[in-house]
Amino acid sequence: MILYYICFFTKRQASTMLNLILFGPPGSGKGTQSEKLIRKYGLKHLSTGDLLRSEIASQTVLGLEAKKLMDRGQLVPDEVVIGMISSALESNPQAKGFLFDGFPRTSAQAEALDRLLELKNTGINKMIAMQVSEEELVSRLLKRGMTSGRSDDNNEGVIRARIAEYHNKTAAVADYYQKFGKVVSVKGEGNVDEIFEGLCKEIDEVLVA
Ligand code: ADP
Repeated sequence: MILYYICFFTKRQASTMLNLILFGPPGSGKGTQSEKLIRKYGLKHLSTGDLLRSEIASQTVLGLEAKKLMDRGQLVPDEVVIGMISSALESNPQAKGFLFDGFPRTSAQAEALDRLLELKNTGINKMIAMQVSEEELVSRLLKRGMTSGRSDDNNEGVIRARIAEYHNKTAAVADYYQKFGKVVSVKGEGNVDEIFEGLCKEIDEVLVA
């Protein structure tokens, strides 16, 4: 009987989680908007780019290997990022929900994420895809490169390589979630607050459903 209540409670709690994917090409504003969204909705922000940069800063073997690929604008192997996300999920058992930013970036990562969330009796509620033109992306990233200290932002060749990786490997992730009717698009150009409003409108629809 006690076990029944524990299972019931855990299941109930997990199914009320809010799990979102903020999707879009490099420079589409995912990081900026994520900061605002996690504050408003009380979510845990999981950015694989940030996790990788913190490995680089700590000079771990994983970080040093990842840096070589990141500096060329290429994706880090699926096993590496899936492992990082899996431990982040494990270490946040009390989270009300997660905001995934920069993950999943391949179909294999999307399938792995679904499996990991299923183990927690939960899943992705919605993928919000931010729409920004390619020229705007390049100009934003070059501008960010002047102050961010990110070595992948200050070289146009590397920026174009990242956008190419996005088209070749990442765009398909939207098709994966589209099959489940979970994808919506939001305008990613304009001022930060306007874009934020567009995102909140989509999230609020999940909350009232
Ligand atoms: P941006 O979206 O501006 O390119 P990120 O901080 O999300 O910035 O990612 C920086 C780099 O980190 C990517 O170009 C890639 O090399 C690596 N990376 C981040 N997330 C992933 C991921 N999910 N899969 C593979 N590589 C990743």
